[in-house]
Amino acid sequence: MANTKEILLIGFGDLAKEVLCQLSHDIQENLPIRRSRVNVKQENLEIPSSAFDSSRQQYSTNAFLSMLHDQSYKKKHALGVVAKDLFVPSLNFVFGVAQRGGSAVISTVRLEPQFYGKSPDKEPFRVRLLKEAIHELGHVFGLSHCDNFCVMRFSNSLPETDAKPPTFCQDCQSKIID
Ligand SMILES: [Zn+2]
Ligand SMILES: [Zn+2]
Repeated sequence: MANTKEILLIGFGDLAKEVLCQLSHDIQENLPIRRSRVNVKQENLEIPSSAFDSSRQQYSTNAFLSMLHDQSYKKKHALGVVAKDLFVPSLNFVFGVAQRGGSAVISTVRLEPQFYGKSPDKEPFRVRLLKEAIHELGHVFGLSHCDNFCVMRFSNSLPETDAKPPTFCQDCQSKIID
């Protein structure tokens, strides 16, 4: 029998608790894994100062992932949420990154209309955050990128994020180790 998958949502810095609580609820509603439980860590973690790259004015994902790794253990996966722009060396930015079987971190920055000079809009932001969270959790649970109409589509721009659904295609769904 499959074990319960525990997901621990962890905010970094001054990330609002209401964003985490709403995301926790939305993941629980939308993640198609029968035995999953999502909790929110009470205290946010501090943004690791070593993550900041002054030449890029962005934050490297590595320091976040190693902090999250310390919060995870067998069958428990930490998903960090940070309101800073994240990068990995090979890309100009990332919405998030994940370690297969481990933890993941996502950024809210480029999901907000304000980043693109538009007015704040809560509902699209909420859906985008859910999509990025489910996408990275898909990687955590062993999925690769997918070309179907599927949340596991690679997206490197907001229109690409908006164009994909918050759900797995049937192929991906069947590959998740439940
Ligand atoms: Zn991905
Ligand atoms: Zn798929």
